[in-house]
Amino acid sequence: MSHFFDKTDSPYIIAGPCSIESRTQFSESVEALSQIAEVSMIRCGVWKPRTRPGDFEGMGEEALRWIAELRPRYPHLRFAAEVASPAHLELCLKYGIDAVWIGARTSGNPFSVSELCEAMRGVSIPVLVKNPLIPDIKLWAGAIERVRNAGIADVAAVHRGFYLDNNLGYRNNPLWKIPIELKRQPPDLPLFCDPSHICGKAELVAKVAQTAMDLSFDGLMIETHPVPADALTDARQQLTPLQLSQLIAELRIPVKGNALPDEMQLLRHEIDTIDEELLQLLLQRNSVSLKIAEIKRANNLSVLQLDRWERLLQSHLAQAEAMGLSAEYVRRIFEEIHAESVRLQNEALHKE
Ligand code: PEP
Ligand code: MN
Repeated sequence: MSHFFDKTDSPYIIAGPCSIESRTQFSESVEALSQIAEVSMIRCGVWKPRTRPGDFEGMGEEALRWIAELRPRYPHLRFAAEVASPAHLELCLKYGIDAVWIGARTSGNPFSVSELCEAMRGVSIPVLVKNPLIPDIKLWAGAIERVRNAGIADVAAVHRGFYLDNNLGYRNNPLWKIPIELKRQPPDLPLFCDPSHICGKAELVAKVAQTAMDLSFDGLMIETHPVPADALTDARQQLTPLQLSQLIAELRIPVKGNALPDEMQLLRHEIDTIDEELLQLLLQRNSVSLKIAEIKRANNLSVLQLDRWERLLQSHLAQAEAMGLSAEYVRRIFEEIHAESVRLQNEALHKE
């Protein structure tokens, strides 16, 4: 087990801006975060992986200079940056960065991870490995194994959610059972949660941070910005330092008797997630149904089309039986769903 991230009875907190944007924005961030006793490490976005070209890609080496300049004033804080290539790592080492993380777009690429690991050989720096975008636990565990094989002693995993078709209203689907499964497998790694990239919205961050605590995560990585609305990247999900200190004050930390959440707790979170998913799907179904109402109106078609409903129901019942679900149960559910859809369409058609 890594000792670098050890904090026996409280979570290890990493906070800081998504991106370092200017010397002022960064120094204001660090000054404000230094006042929050629980914050141990500042996250420094130096190079930003952007989906499309032309967006702000980080300040690069200039940002590293600002970190090196500020660092002596805050001896109790550590500074971490994302690295995606050996060149990034070399620069981080040159400027005395305390720890690095491998981002979600890099950890899923074994070529990139191997190149980074070659550059890490013989270097002593803590490394955090974020989960890849796709929910393949082996890919995540493989990246971690490569880092360990490069001789890095302090390795931690960071759960930042997975980009799926249905993200439950989050930016990335938390799929809690994957990080917990990773934690169950040896070696015993510190497990962080990055609720900012899971949520995509500042107002959801506290809830996801609390779930991570309930599931015995060891730490949190949270994005903060002095004025989130002005942020050049991830403006919607960043908290102000004040909001972060409120979040920390309100966190309920379970007593760490067991290193892992018990089976029932985990299964309950799984049920919660499935229920959330069902609700999202029902909402999605309603919105498709309303689009159909528009087409029916334009073509003067009746709302209730019994032959279509009868075919749909029979096909669902056959599928349910094949899957091992009770046909009676599935019939009751679809009758309710269909009735609601008819009601919504009628309401839409008679609105004017
Ligand atoms: C980040 O932490 O700034 C980041 C880009 O996150 P992720 O790699 O999880 O998308
Ligand atoms: Mn970000």
